[in-house]
Amino acid sequence: MISHAVYFVALPIGNREDITRRALDVLGEVDTICCEDTRHTAPLLAHYGIHKPLLSVHEHNERERANQVAERAEAGERFAVVSDAGMPGVSDPGYRLVTELQRRGIRYTVLPGPSAVVTALVGSALPSDSFFFGGFLPVKKGKRKSLLAAAAERPYTSIFYESPYRIAGTLKELAEAHPDTEVCVARELTKIHEQFHRGTAAELAEQFAKQQMKGEMVLLIGGSNAPSGKREAE
Ligand code: SAM
Repeated sequence: MISHAVYFVALPIGNREDITRRALDVLGEVDTICCEDTRHTAPLLAHYGIHKPLLSVHEHNERERANQVAERAEAGERFAVVSDAGMPGVSDPGYRLVTELQRRGIRYTVLPGPSAVVTALVGSALPSDSFFFGGFLPVKKGKRKSLLAAAAERPYTSIFYESPYRIAGTLKELAEAHPDTEVCVARELTKIHEQFHRGTAAELAEQFAKQQMKGEMVLLIGGSNAPSGKREAE
């Protein structure tokens, strides 16, 4: 079954049932699982009946860990790499490790699965044929402002990860410059309180100013090609 040295494995983004059979097989067969936070991943793996040695690989040690994992993989150890949630390498550690494996010619593969960016896009009802993904929006006001302006102007959908503490302010900033831009905030994807908040930037800014929204969220900004999200009168 195990034919590669390293497997990058997607984990659920909320609903623990969202894991593939192949992911469970591979996680059960490798020697060691690299994860961001062992305290977070150990209980999730235990839920699937998987108990393996864990090695922490996070943004502060990924560079040195990449060398260690590559050397151990060359010596015959088999690894899986996961992040706290979703796809490793997507706004999460993984890039440096895959680069090192590539450089050394070590055989690796990726097991596809959930990622918040694609899940949010499909549910947003914004054009999904092409899109821009910007990762986390920067905290610095000037940079954020220019990214928001570019998003509203390009002819396809833009997607950003955003914190629940900043989302109201970000929507306000967008609404001040581009009030009619179509927007979606995808919240708590795959979880009990999942919601797709859809409207113009002005409408969502008003809604989010009134009510403190909690949970994980993805901000999607319709470009110049986005149709109105207005509901038809019943
Ligand atoms: N690697 C992950 C992926 O493939 O989506 C992303 C990890 S990034 C550190 C975490 C951010 O992803 C959250 O702050 C949020 O913006 C987004 N996210 C992750 N899970 C989510 C969910 N269930 N609902 C909405 N957004 C989510």
